[in-house]
Amino acid sequence: MYPDEVERFILRYDVSTNLRKSGDHVEKEASLTLERLREGNARFAAGRPEARFSAEERLACLAGQKPVAIVVGCSDSRVPVEAVFDAGPGELFVVRTAGHVLAQASIASIRFALEKLGTRLVVVLGHEDCGAVSAALAGNAPEWLSPIVSKIDVSRVDPSLAPADADDALLAAAVDNHVLDTVAELHELILGMDVPHDAVVVCGGAYKLASGHVHWLE
Ligand SMILES: [Zn+2]
Repeated sequence: MYPDEVERFILRYDVSTNLRKSGDHVEKEASLTLERLREGNARFAAGRPEARFSAEERLACLAGQKPVAIVVGCSDSRVPVEAVFDAGPGELFVVRTAGHVLAQASIASIRFALEKLGTRLVVVLGHEDCGAVSAALAGNAPEWLSPIVSKIDVSRVDPSLAPADADDALLAAAVDNHVLDTVAELHELILGMDVPHDAVVVCGGAYKLASGHVHWLE
């Protein structure tokens, strides 16, 4: 796509998706979308996915994209976001960095989907055994990893948790905390974006590697 085509693409979608819905309506829509993601995850975990990636699905996306959710996930290769939610082409706007830390480019990507594509649900997806969170907990990461580990606050993790398997329990608690921190950070960032802040729903969950289930966090 050439730059002027990109510009036209953006303008076209800006006009058609400049949503100014009431908070209630958006919340209802977001909860329906969340239900769709939960059901997709249940199919994935059960080994019965339905998403298709055929020529037909690709052709259906030619007119543009209207993703139902933004997913902010970790780059870990064991957490393939579309597969986890059994979503096909055009359904999810996925932003991934190690430890789902919000880099400048990630924030701009999320903003693009909120402001230009009209997406109103943001899901932060952490996961079990996250190497980035583990590195932050260990506290001995090399300097070049600091843009990631310095953004993961592990100070609230309680070392008295589950002495029998303390390492796993600590890491799981740190993963959950970091998901909730990212949700809070996004809430804050969205206040500065050109989108009604009460019109965006942000939630988070932690993906379990063995079961394939997403454990949703309140
Ligand atoms: Zn990770």
